[in-house]
Amino acid sequence: MARFVGPVCRLCRRSGDKLMLKGDRCFSPKCAADKRNKPPGPHAVTRRRVSDRGVQLREKQKAKYVYGLFERQFKRFFGEAEKQVGITGNNLVVLLERRLDNVVYKLGFADSRAQARQLVLHGHLLVNDHKLNVASALVKPGDVIKWREGSKKTEYFKILVEGIKAKTVPAWLSLDRQSLVGQVVGVPSSDVVEAKFETTSVVEWYSR
Ligand code: SF4
Repeated sequence: MARFVGPVCRLCRRSGDKLMLKGDRCFSPKCAADKRNKPPGPHAVTRRRVSDRGVQLREKQKAKYVYGLFERQFKRFFGEAEKQVGITGNNLVVLLERRLDNVVYKLGFADSRAQARQLVLHGHLLVNDHKLNVASALVKPGDVIKWREGSKKTEYFKILVEGIKAKTVPAWLSLDRQSLVGQVVGVPSSDVVEAKFETTSVVEWYSR
């Protein structure tokens, strides 16, 4: 699946927000958004009145950056959210949160969604005892996510077992910290997900 491979810190600076795309680095003094709090480029305009349309575009782009999606992939999720009963913006957040790469990230198996996606694509994880290497697959309550036996022998896994004790998981997931087996125990609620973007603006952008 296509993915963005450019410098992600520029995406934060362009959005004017810390999108936390780089794991531990985002909490360190090396964070580019903290060091250079202005849009990238030599002629960046820092003060400009942004139109309503501009705000909608910015929020939509932020949503894409946070979940690491290109326009076509994101629009597909938006289309799904529109078809569902309820508030489209909330449906969209719930669908994005249910992506397998996001769940792997939220379980603490990876420091960023990009790293989680790589773990999934490389087949390190099993869902309900079956190998699933599709990052966009949607999990549902009852699904069990565990590590492949071969992957447990890697150095990455050994370091993870130590480090994961300090991590917290959201209420809709559970994690056995000894065996590193995760389970989906509920549905993410749109009001407890720390969305980095305004869902209303995203809906307005596509509703023009
Ligand atoms: Fe964004 Fe993280 Fe880079 Fe800071 S370190 S600019 S939060 S991706």
